Amino acid sequence: MYSTYKTIIEPFKIKSIEPLGFTTREERQEALQRADYNLFKVPADKVLIDLLTDSGTGAMSAEQWAGIMRGDESYAGARSFFTFEKVIKDLTGYKEIIPTHQGRAAERILFNIIGGKDKIFLSNSHFDTTRANAEATGAIAIDLPAPGALDFDKSSNFKGDMDLNLLEKYLKENDPGQIAMVILTVTNNSLGGQPVSMKNIREVNKLCKKNNVVLFFDAARFAENAYFIKLKEEGYSNKTPKEIAKEMFSYADGCLMSAKKDAIVNIGGFLAMNNSDWASRAKEIEILGEGFPTYGGLAGRDLEAIARGLIEVLDEEYLNYRIKSVAYLGDGLRKHGIPIVEPPGGHAVYINAKKFLSHILPEKFPGQALACALYLESGIRACEIGSLMFGKNNNGKFVPAPMELVRLAIPRRVYTQSHIDYVIETFENLAKKKNTIQGLRVIEASPVLSHFTARLVPA
Ligand SMILES: *Cc1c(COP(=O)(O)O)cnc(C)c1O
Repeated sequence: MYSTYKTIIEPFKIKSIEPLGFTTREERQEALQRADYNLFKVPADKVLIDLLTDSGTGAMSAEQWAGIMRGDESYAGARSFFTFEKVIKDLTGYKEIIPTHQGRAAERILFNIIGGKDKIFLSNSHFDTTRANAEATGAIAIDLPAPGALDFDKSSNFKGDMDLNLLEKYLKENDPGQIAMVILTVTNNSLGGQPVSMKNIREVNKLCKKNNVVLFFDAARFAENAYFIKLKEEGYSNKTPKEIAKEMFSYADGCLMSAKKDAIVNIGGFLAMNNSDWASRAKEIEILGEGFPTYGGLAGRDLEAIARGLIEVLDEEYLNYRIKSVAYLGDGLRKHGIPIVEPPGGHAVYINAKKFLSHILPEKFPGQALACALYLESGIRACEIGSLMFGKNNNGKFVPAPMELVRLAIPRRVYTQSHIDYVIETFENLAKKKNTIQGLRVIEASPVLSHFTARLVPA
């Protein structure tokens, strides 16, 4: 068990370091203009503290780096694949394990098998690439978050839950053959990194079974979800995160995972399932695009690092530090009156830009405006999750997203408490001059996943 001291320390020491990108305000102003106010286009060496995403940005452990050297690069049947397969089978209990180069490749392969025109995907909330891959097959992706999930000011334990009444309604109203699958995203990334309770998982499973519909997890942050269950759900405080994760997986028919999150690696993903027909079709598609099914677009060394990361992420010292250090950032922002999505999520704190910058209308992208102001102020990079990402253009009419958030995602094992204090101090300063922050206007955007490439100018 951990120390009883109040101070939460990083449960690791630093072996290898990388300098931060210090810049002047003028350099940042120029970088922003060059990037068309799209932070995805700002070169990383002009970023001081990079909170754009927790995806693929984690620091690997000495053991993972050792695994990189141990990697077996045989084309077929590499030893590293069997290590990878064994760890994932042990964790999930699923029979078929298929590596992919990242999460969206797993989505693309799976949805090509089960998606299609007029099929329906139901989720607590689809992640952006998950939605895009479902829609690319002609299917419809519907989000059914629990009531209250969009009430950002109100804190409760499991705001990532799925709305069971709506799920039941959709399952009743549609032919089971029409529902491609139900996907529980753990934790719920799009709505604040909020966890899904075991109770909700169990109930969703029951409804799916009753209606003959398949249930999968989008398991990118399964370990953070498991730890929240341990902390907040009755009956789980004495269980290990691994026992809880295993129970979660036991209620679904399979999962897809971006290993760039809770496997703490820089690249990778996988599909895991019990349905052997789907798995053999998945392997056929895999060979066309990803590679032979025992490496799936990855090197043997990547498989080793993922296998090791999946073990390390379930360590209680790590999860305790992880969840509490994200909460620490939330506490700091709250102290300076910054409205955040309550409570802080597992991997990120989300700022409610609609509320913070209430003088900027949704069509002027308050989330993106805040993210740009944050960068300009001190070189911190964050990600808009609002109308730039999810807004729609309906025959020339702008349809805003239901939320205007800025996500401060915390890379795993990368930044220390003093980095986070710096972020908090930046927001203290921004809060004082928030009325000077102006909105933005899109001058060019692609039809799919436009936030990655859109060009903007000050409105
Ligand atoms: C990151 C992520 C994905 C997509 O994974 P990539 O590895 O980025 O392709 C899918 N779902 C969720 C919930 C994610 O966070």
